[in-house]
Amino acid sequence: MLPPQADLLIKGGTIYPGGAEPITGDVAIKDDRIVAVGPHLKVAAARILDARGMIVAPGFIDPHSHMEDWLTDDDAQRRLVEPFLMQGVTTAFVGNDGGGRIKVGELLASPRTKPVGINFASYTGFGTIRSEVIGNARRTPTAEELAREKALVRQAMCEGALGLSTGLFYAPQSFSQTDEVVALAQVASGMGGRYDTHLRDEANYTVGLAAAVDEAIAIARDGHIPAHISHIKALGVDVQGLAPAIIAKIEQARREGLDVTASQYPWEASGTSLVASLIPLWAQDGGRAAMLRRFDDPALAESLRSEIGENLRRRGGAGSLLIVEGRWKNQRLDAVARGLGLDPVAAAIAAIREGDAATISFNMAESDIVAFMRQPWTMTDSDASTAHPRVYGSFARKYAVYVKERKVLTLREFIDRSSALTADWFGLTDRGHLRPGAFADVVVFDPATYAARATYEQPDLTATGVRWVLVNGRLAVEDGRLTGTANGRELPHTPPAGSCQ
Ligand SMILES: [Zn+2]
Repeated sequence: MLPPQADLLIKGGTIYPGGAEPITGDVAIKDDRIVAVGPHLKVAAARILDARGMIVAPGFIDPHSHMEDWLTDDDAQRRLVEPFLMQGVTTAFVGNDGGGRIKVGELLASPRTKPVGINFASYTGFGTIRSEVIGNARRTPTAEELAREKALVRQAMCEGALGLSTGLFYAPQSFSQTDEVVALAQVASGMGGRYDTHLRDEANYTVGLAAAVDEAIAIARDGHIPAHISHIKALGVDVQGLAPAIIAKIEQARREGLDVTASQYPWEASGTSLVASLIPLWAQDGGRAAMLRRFDDPALAESLRSEIGENLRRRGGAGSLLIVEGRWKNQRLDAVARGLGLDPVAAAIAAIREGDAATISFNMAESDIVAFMRQPWTMTDSDASTAHPRVYGSFARKYAVYVKERKVLTLREFIDRSSALTADWFGLTDRGHLRPGAFADVVVFDPATYAARATYEQPDLTATGVRWVLVNGRLAVEDGRLTGTANGRELPHTPPAGSCQ
């Protein structure tokens, strides 16, 4: 039985329901839910949106967003998260890379006093937990410390964390051995959580990309936990071309019965900073002041120069680094060097002396990007941090470039892997699908004009082509403009009954 009256009817669009073939028809919405989907619905509605010629899809879900600061900002406008809404993203995960809070409950309570534009879930973070228990120490935890870390994972899971995130590349997480991570993953797993990782190495800085993927798979196996590799990539000239080998490893793990997935942002450049991309870790130890002292130490000059030179080579040379803030904004490091009359290494040191500028690093091969993207277990993410167009354009670019222009994915593959796959794998109940009973998170976009405008030089331009966005049944975007409605919700994970007593 259809309800006689809906609040809203999205009429005549091409509906991609999420995980199913498209149909032409209508979507009826009442309160915060979808009440009917199908051709020629006989539903009276207070309002009708004419979606003929448009694509109607589940609101997109970003499993690696770095949007916590936006979602908790004092500025109500910023909390709408315009860059995401204007691409049709209605749900985002925060707390990735090991940076998630221990007091996840506090974050999840935030919308009660500070309404947000999109839904969100949060991980707790290994980095936060390890820092809390052992500080910055470069060692394995004692038995007592490990017990304390496990208790903190448990606490965070009981407060609604989605799972445990790690950023094993980053200190102090990089000081861990695999078994420490496994022990914590087991706690998260016992409470229905998932494991999300920024790998220990996406390049060949330390263990290398292949070994880092092996480690993620070992954590899935020994932690008995579904594992997700975030922003999967082969970073730098030495590992470019490795995507097929990495895919084979993940396929093998999946055949073994391990639940391993990944997500990816569709850009050939990552976001970093001059220091993070070029300065060896030993030279950063102790912070900026200590690093600058080392720059002035003649005894260290040669090894510093040679290691910076090696990191430059690894990233593809001085022409592959674009500085995006400060005095050299929108200049590549080779141009900076020419301007200063210095070689690239000396120019990098000179630039870092003035500050650690955010930097775009062109380090991925298109063939690797495409190979990862084609996998049915690769979701769309944004990794929306730093001055990078991925904040404003990842989902829109993936459609415009990889569906429409290059035909790497079909429209359905793009939509499913940006919505249903993500919702189902992460256990988001009643989201990621357009079906009766599901929450009404919906994007309606124009297939002719949906595209990113953001570029590396001008990263903060909103996407085009999104006509309407609904978040929990209310219009957040109307005729291509934000309505100002903040109807997003926190999405707490619920651990199995009895596990938090
Ligand atoms: Zn990351």
